[in-house]
Amino acid sequence: MANENTLQNIISHCKEYGFIFPSSEIYDGLSAVYDYGQYGAELKKNIRDYWWKCMTQLNENIVGIDAAIFMDPKVWKASGHIDNFNDPMIDNRDSQKRYRVDHLIEAHAATLPNKDGEALITKMEALLATEDYAGLKRLIEYTNIKCAVSGTANWTDVRQFNLMFSTDMGSTGDDADKIYLRPETAQGIFVNFLNVQKTGRMKIPFGIAQTGKAFRNEIVARQFIFRMREFEQMEMQFFVRPGTQKEWYEKWKETRMQWHLSLGIPPERYRFHDHAKLAHYADAACDIEYDFPFGYKEVEGIHSRTDFDLKNHQQSSGKKLTYFDTEINQHYLPYVVETSIGLDRTVLMVLSEAYKEEDLSTAEKQDSRTVLKIPALLAPIKLAILPLIKKDGLPEIARKLMDECKLHFKCFYEEKDTIGKRYRRQDAIGTPFCITIDHQSKEDGTVTVRHRDSMQQERIPLESVKQMVLDSMAIKL
Ligand code: ATP
Repeated sequence: MANENTLQNIISHCKEYGFIFPSSEIYDGLSAVYDYGQYGAELKKNIRDYWWKCMTQLNENIVGIDAAIFMDPKVWKASGHIDNFNDPMIDNRDSQKRYRVDHLIEAHAATLPNKDGEALITKMEALLATEDYAGLKRLIEYTNIKCAVSGTANWTDVRQFNLMFSTDMGSTGDDADKIYLRPETAQGIFVNFLNVQKTGRMKIPFGIAQTGKAFRNEIVARQFIFRMREFEQMEMQFFVRPGTQKEWYEKWKETRMQWHLSLGIPPERYRFHDHAKLAHYADAACDIEYDFPFGYKEVEGIHSRTDFDLKNHQQSSGKKLTYFDTEINQHYLPYVVETSIGLDRTVLMVLSEAYKEEDLSTAEKQDSRTVLKIPALLAPIKLAILPLIKKDGLPEIARKLMDECKLHFKCFYEEKDTIGKRYRRQDAIGTPFCITIDHQSKEDGTVTVRHRDSMQQERIPLESVKQMVLDSMAIKL
């Protein structure tokens, strides 16, 4: 219950402080679609930039691209998405509510004692792996799982639903014009594999990274930005010599976990989950799960995709996609290890970790604050510049500091209200440093820096402010 409240509090906080709004809110919102407000957009961009930098700047053999959302529909036939991108679903006849079978069973397992819950999940995974839908229905009935809305166990058979959205291109509206909104960004990388390899003179092993929107007609849309119908992915396809995929898979598992830890999140908040049921393209796969307010859930998938995609695109397009490996004098289709992380889920992870309600009460008075302890590198605003009063030349000093710093990072300037109130507002949006300029600043060129997490204040020279903030934003990988 406490955790349920935490998620609700985070959702309210995000809305109140301009991070995330329901889409089309004045029309009561669109289910599982969200808009990022002024601070949410900054946070999301900072996470995306950090990922991009870690992939494409820190690795000399990884380059980034930006492929279109619309692709030739044959791509989705070749990739298996038209035939296989389904989730088993079940409907409750009384409430007409549709559930993803794995979510329904997982939610029930979470209410059971640990051992029973785990046994149930193991059974479910075995049935999913063999696509035994009748068996899944029997498991739901035998376990007496009820619909949360109707409270009954009046279930339909388990059926498959495709998750891709489609639309028409051109004006005739024939089926031939049907195109899909990509459900993953990865295919834009596969179809450009040779373009990039040749023009970039890339040598295997090498990677191609991309960030961008993906769309899935998720049936069960809940848990805020954890599961959306329109979301953003950050994916990297790493092309390797066949036979070496296992090594690279292990290497990327480790590298990605290091990246997660570099967000300042402690190791015990993460765990690996190895897939029992492999997707139609994979020979090994695992998830990095984070302990969200609603339990451990996937943030990132690491998949060894073999040559499945390149092989199918080669076959379907009739274009040769092989690579000539000069070291061993052989042509082959590379194998692929992919890392695929949801940007929105990472935003929710960072917010869940950062959100703190702190009791600051003393013997004299009751007090509390809500603070987002977001790492400085990711914080929407890095520095708030606050002249104590609106006169006596203090705003001029503050403006000068603003002009110097805003070239380097995002700053916020504010003159109104008491300093205490201004600090609290910055705490709520996660600003790591507030600088107060007072009369003493005029005399000795020092200012007060107030640190968000410790709430400690100290005087420092005005000219050291910029470097202090830049130092706090350094990448520590
Ligand atoms: P899930 O089992 O939660 O549906 P998935 O295994 O289908 O996820 P992948 O296809 O591996 O997810 O996609 C890679 C990443 O994209 C996921 O780890 C997740 O972070 C993100 N992602 C996938 N679906 C959604 C969604 N509907 N909303 C937000 N992020 C998503």
